Amino acid sequence: MWQAEVRVDLDAIRENVSWLRSGSAAELMAVVKGDGYGHGMVPAAHAALDGGADWLGVCTLDEALTLRRAGISVPILAWLLAPGLPLHEGVLAGVDLGAASIAQLDEMVEAGRVAGRPARLHLKIDTGLSRGGATVSQWPELLDAAAKAQADGAVEVVGVWSHFVYADAPGHPTTDRQIATFHEGLSMVEKAGLRPRYRHLANSAATLTRPDAHFDLVRPGLAIYGLSPVAGERFGLRPAMTARARVMLTKQVPAGAGVSYGHTYTTERASNLAVIPLGYADGVPRDASNSGPVQLGGVRRTISGRVCMDQFVLDCGDDPVAPGDVATLFGAGRNGEPTADDWAEAVGTINYEIVTRFGSTRVPRCYDGERP
Ligand SMILES: *Cc1c(COP(=O)(O)O)cnc(C)c1O
Repeated sequence: MWQAEVRVDLDAIRENVSWLRSGSAAELMAVVKGDGYGHGMVPAAHAALDGGADWLGVCTLDEALTLRRAGISVPILAWLLAPGLPLHEGVLAGVDLGAASIAQLDEMVEAGRVAGRPARLHLKIDTGLSRGGATVSQWPELLDAAAKAQADGAVEVVGVWSHFVYADAPGHPTTDRQIATFHEGLSMVEKAGLRPRYRHLANSAATLTRPDAHFDLVRPGLAIYGLSPVAGERFGLRPAMTARARVMLTKQVPAGAGVSYGHTYTTERASNLAVIPLGYADGVPRDASNSGPVQLGGVRRTISGRVCMDQFVLDCGDDPVAPGDVATLFGAGRNGEPTADDWAEAVGTINYEIVTRFGSTRVPRCYDGERP
């Protein structure tokens, strides 16, 4: 008997990847950072590979090494690397590294020397996000240094890449400007004498809507989990995550009863209250107080009062809800239950954050579909 669980439908991830992969001539890097956006990094990676993913993308070196320890041998790119990491472990494990500065390049040259083989690099240009990546003015210098290191046999430049500003509005003019800047960056790559096999730029939104940004490799994350980056558009995707819990306790209270910390909710009439054993320690945003939608007893309800660390309350009115009944916070939406999109809207965030919050908590994660 379970009291709360996050169910992940691996078949959905597999099918989403297969559908995305068939929509492009480019290879596909399934992004499984952030514990697979809360779905479990290793199971999500296996499901994505079953669906035809060619690459895996992560942020940290640890994430990449965890995938290797799980026996995964496909190309992996890790791109969020603070100074001083044991990058040679990544080189030895065949992990490709994202490089955005001369300082990073120098560390990677050294890592290759320690490992006894060249580090495989993807040089990143900042085309407008002003986050990772070398600025356009730093780009020629980085390219020259990388070309020299490659000529010395210290590194192998495998890729050139960048990242979009708009994950949610793929038609935005900034996206066109970024694609143009990327093309300019690529012509400098040629001038520097580098011929990287992979040029890549597209996140989920661009994978779905901007074939002119696919280049050699697309990097969808959110979409492989069945969620859409574009509001109001589901595409052909199937959400993989369901979060639910059993009613722990019900009780009859009179009209005018204040509910949960701070009494931010008061019953309007005599009501059956249901206590649900999930809280912000489990991923339920506290901002869902008096706004988060939950399906219980076939009815969509709204969280009553504050979300606590471990629990929240639903006012079920006259409905005969009983302990053990299943309350669904969100799922694929096929049986009337709320979706991660509904939660994002209720809470004022994005669906990315909703599912990612439910990763690696005390709530057991269960898997449906192949490869549990
Ligand atoms: C997270 C991330 C992605 C995937 O983005 P989605 O919008 O989830 O598809 C791709 N590339 C980089 C560099 C990322 O950090």
